Parts: sequence; structure tokens; C-alpha cells
Amino acid sequence: MKKKMPNHSVLISILLLCLTLLLIFGLSRQKTVVIKTANLNIHSGPGIDYPVIDTTKARQRYHVVGQRNDWYRVRITDKKFGWVASWLVNRKKPLQHVTRLSEATVVIDPGHGGSDSGAEYKNSKNPEYMEKTYTLQLAKKVAMALRMRGCHVIMTRDNDRYVGLKPRPELAESLHADAFISFHYDSSPQRNEGTGITAYYYHRGKSKQLASTMSQQFNNLPLTNKGINFGNFLVIRDNTRPAILCEMGYINTKRDFNHIKSFSYQWKVANDVVKGLNQYFKEQ
Ligand SMILES: [Zn+2]
Repeated sequence: MKKKMPNHSVLISILLLCLTLLLIFGLSRQKTVVIKTANLNIHSGPGIDYPVIDTTKARQRYHVVGQRNDWYRVRITDKKFGWVASWLVNRKKPLQHVTRLSEATVVIDPGHGGSDSGAEYKNSKNPEYMEKTYTLQLAKKVAMALRMRGCHVIMTRDNDRYVGLKPRPELAESLHADAFISFHYDSSPQRNEGTGITAYYYHRGKSKQLASTMSQQFNNLPLTNKGINFGNFLVIRDNTRPAILCEMGYINTKRDFNHIKSFSYQWKVANDVVKGLNQYFKEQ
């Protein structure tokens, strides 16, 4: 028996149904956002380097027509478009004060991790004495302090896992980060020989400026501030974004180590980093 072919009108109906579904799907994907924060800067491009072309009014609704580097492209008027920092749009609690720091993307890099324990207070298998433990404790506090001010913080690791050196600056590059800060602790060949804090830069220009502005904030810390220095470290050398590496004390010096492991020292550093970045972004 010959199969009966479906006639044309059935095919056209099916086609129309598919097109309608596609259209509904497409429209539902077009996102609108309510921007609760007033005076949020609208930039001409996705980042704080781009000029501010407008500011938002409180509780205004905008169409999001694109996204890049965690910035939303929004329609301001029929023919005018601009970019806003998506993390400020989506904040549960709107920011009271929008600053350049709140619009910035910062990569925080806790040195070492996992099988790479870094330097040690003394030879042991105990994580309590390992550099990787304290770079992470410090980095988490820095991230928290920055996020409280609206800053977009990405960490290269937020737990005790191994991360190679190369992916760290690559992360900053892929996010088009406005700053990259790596935390480490120094160690001397003999115990109790070294002391103090150093902020390293590799590239002149913005990285050196960031190191210098940041270093000035560390004067309030209980350890000697040894200022800035050139440092040939991969994470800041192979980095296209403004990048510094801070050695926040000598882990194998008893006096330094007592501060390194104290939460009050870690919080002081976190607040200094907030102040340093604030100042740095103001200077740009
Ligand atoms: Zn280290």
C-alpha cells in the first residue's frame, strides 16, 4: 500500500508553529534589568577605562542587549547604548556610594596551594606552618573587604588546591582585570634572618604605580615596610594587566610569623589594600 504524503497545508502549519516558538523563545531571552542604584556610571565601553557617557536614575528599567567582561550593554534611548558593571546591577543591597573601586574588576591571587605548599615556618608536614595556608587566609579577607565596597573580585583559588603559575595571569587577561594582586610570604635561607614587607612590580607604568600606591598604605602595619622593588615573578611578568606581588612578611621569622597568622594583621592588610586600590583608581 502506498503511504499517504502529508499535504502542504500541514507542513506550512508545522513551520509556522516552529517559527512562533522560536520568536517566543527569542523574546523571553531578551533581558531587562531594574537598576536600583542611582548614579551608576554608564560607560561608552565595557570597563572603567571607557568614558562615562551617562548615569542611571534609581529604579529605572533597562534592556540588556549584550554582555562582555561581566559588563552589560544597555539601551539608554532609541539609538543610544552604554555599558554598566553587571555586578552592581545585580547586587542584593544597592551600593550607597558608587566609586571607581566598585566598578573595578580585581584578581586576587593567593600564592601556592595544594601540593605546592610554598615556604614554611619550619620543616614539617603541618599546613599550620605553610605559606599556602596564610596567603589564602589573607586573600579571602582582602576579597571580602573589597566586595563589601562593590568591587568585582575574582580569586585564582579560594580553597587549598593546586593552581599552576600560567593560568593566574591568564585569568586577569581574560577578565580584562583592572588590577591583579598576588600575595606571598618571604623566607630567608636561615630562620629569623629576614623581616618586613615588599611590594613588587615587573612592568613600569601602571603596575609600578599600583605597587607604589599600595606600598604607601602598608606604613601602619607592625612589620617594617621595605617599599617597592622590581621582581621577576612569572605571575606579574607574564601579565598584561596592572599587576603586583606583595610579600607580606617573612614566614620563617618568628616575630613576622606571629603577625602573619593573626587575624588582626590580616584584616589590617585587607583594609590597606582597599585604601590602596581606592587611591590607585582615583589617580587613573
Ligand atoms: Zn610564595
